[in-house]
Amino acid sequence: MRIMVLRLGHRLPRDERVTTHVCLTSRAFGAEGVIYSGQKDNSLEASVKRISDNWGGKFSIDYEAKPIARIEKMKKDGWAVAHLTMYGMPLPEKVGEIAGKGRILVVVGAEKVPAEVYQLADFNIAIGNQPHSEIAALAITLDRLQGGKELERAFQSNFGGASISLEPAEKGKKIRKA
Ligand code: SAM
Repeated sequence: MRIMVLRLGHRLPRDERVTTHVCLTSRAFGAEGVIYSGQKDNSLEASVKRISDNWGGKFSIDYEAKPIARIEKMKKDGWAVAHLTMYGMPLPEKVGEIAGKGRILVVVGAEKVPAEVYQLADFNIAIGNQPHSEIAALAITLDRLQGGKELERAFQSNFGGASISLEPAEKGKKIRKA
């Protein structure tokens, strides 16, 4: 399964921390990269690249000025689009069908999401039909899509080439430096 994340409508300075956490969550839980739209943010890109360099693995972050066109192109290229929204269908009812698509573009908003996104999406998916956070929605979606594998010890092998990594510890911290 391949997962990419599209973060719509990044706003400066309001979304600096949340978009950074969208990227860190995407990376840590199995996405191969994040595309973000809204305002270009060089310091966001630099901090995500720094984390990825230090903690290993391959993770991309790219700015997209035209997110609707990007969604359309990725659909043409065979990506299934799962837009996370509190208005959508319950994740448990659709997760199997989505996972079976193989290549999944998970879309999260920031400001009000344009109606076109709801139309273009193959799946409009709610993680509960209550308002909460793009970070929580993303984390739960990535976890359910991968059946929890991203939380298992073996998953850390995806982060090769790290200059810092952690050994699970019952107490204290076991930090490995390359
Ligand atoms: N409009 C407010 C703002 O401008 O900050 C709130 C935006 S809302 C927290 C941002 C994103 O979180 C939504 O676009 C959606 O992707 C995600 N989200 C929030 N609650 C959700 C839910 N129950 N299910 C799925 N996604 C959700």
